[in-house]
Amino acid sequence: MRQILEAIQSDATGVELAGLEIPESYRAAIVKRDEATMFEGVDSWDKDPRASLHVEEVATPELAPDEVYLAVMASSINFNTVWSSIFEPLPTFGFLDRMGRGNEWGKRHSLPYHVVGSDASGVVVRVGSAVRNWKPGDRVTVHCNYVDDQDPSAHNDSMLASNQLIWGFETNFGGLADLAVVKANQLMPKPTHLTWEESAVNALCSSTSYRMLVGGNGAQMKQGDSVLIWGATGGIGGYAVQYVLNGGGTPVGVVSSPERAALLNRMGCEAVIDRRAENYQFWSDENTQDESEWRRFGKKIREVNNGEDVDIVFEHPGRSTMGASVFAVKRGGTIVTCAATSGYMVEFDNRHFWMRLKKLIGSHFANYAESYAANKLLDQGRIQPLLTTTYDLSAVGDAALAVHHNEVEGKLGVLCLAPSEGLGISDPDKRARIGEDKITIFRS
Ligand code: NAP
Repeated sequence: MRQILEAIQSDATGVELAGLEIPESYRAAIVKRDEATMFEGVDSWDKDPRASLHVEEVATPELAPDEVYLAVMASSINFNTVWSSIFEPLPTFGFLDRMGRGNEWGKRHSLPYHVVGSDASGVVVRVGSAVRNWKPGDRVTVHCNYVDDQDPSAHNDSMLASNQLIWGFETNFGGLADLAVVKANQLMPKPTHLTWEESAVNALCSSTSYRMLVGGNGAQMKQGDSVLIWGATGGIGGYAVQYVLNGGGTPVGVVSSPERAALLNRMGCEAVIDRRAENYQFWSDENTQDESEWRRFGKKIREVNNGEDVDIVFEHPGRSTMGASVFAVKRGGTIVTCAATSGYMVEFDNRHFWMRLKKLIGSHFANYAESYAANKLLDQGRIQPLLTTTYDLSAVGDAALAVHHNEVEGKLGVLCLAPSEGLGISDPDKRARIGEDKITIFRS
């Protein structure tokens, strides 16, 4: 990999890169099948990714005709890597084994280890024989929607494909590594004004938020809508705030500290609720929700939102908040959800839901067109990367623990082949035009 890195750093041509040997093994962050029960009996919160995530050499798999080898310059931590590393709700080896029972190429994925990671920026170093639109030397980012497009269900909206998977979570050979195996239809041009690590942190979260709020498959926010955003300085929440502001809406951001509230204000989000300061107790015990707390929450929303209920709720905490979200959205409003960080068995009062004609939309990542549109907005400087801090790949466990314990705002970048931060900008003038302060708004 050192030769490949040197070639990238010296701006080698695509032909030169294509002439370099692909190493037989590479450095990768993995979880191990024989450790999948290591946390049995341990409380979720205490499951420590530092014990389960290992950085080791793994064998380079063969390349399928529709795939590329990517030299990964940087990657990022997503919550799905936390789930993989704590083996919740299930160890990810079941996904890999299902792939293994599929076609010849699927068999490669069922291994005693799982290379995790669902984001990457880097340089294409080899393309399979069926790859038409990309070539060695292309600088790219990767979205994580993994579909076999030779299946009719993968057309129209590929997120509805029966074979849809999330790369680096439900497939092997993901992005937290020096080399990755990526389908050609996951590639997108790297924004030219961003560094490797700034480019690597966006695709998963930004595309998810795009589909939830902007694209035709989600809540379809209109100008003038107000949108309640849980975890508004978190990964998906931070992009959601930007999409609402860009789309002429009013974000109502929920966070859990004055520092996060101040960060939201700096982003241009004026309506902010500090859920910790308000001390909401939506659940009075494990089985009972407290409607008076939902009412108190609704009153607070109107207080910060010009006396109005919100048109849309951007949901993802799940069990702890869904009851309040369904209650608080306006009559006829929409709750759009993509996750359940605090628990997936959610509960809400159906009377408030049907009598007030509300809508609940399930959303999951984004199709290629939606991811591409989200990537274009980043490239235009209309959406900013939410990079807070970077870690070296060797410290991937520390990074995953920080996300698991809700200790960070925005996104954590991970340097893979990139030897330091700040590299990879190919259009410094554009960067200056967009503005360093905007691009680095989440840097601590
Ligand atoms: P993140 O960066 O950790 O941010 C989550 C935010 O949620 C935190 O900043 C926290 O904000 C808030 N939060 C956490 N627990 C909460 C609770 N009990 N009640 C209210 N707020 C709470 O994570 P993320 O990347 O944004 O991802 C969020 C969730 O979405 C994860 O479960 C992830 O797996 C999922 N996800 C799903 C998809 C998909 O395609 N389906 C894509 C991306 C992410 P405060 O403490 O400041 O309030």
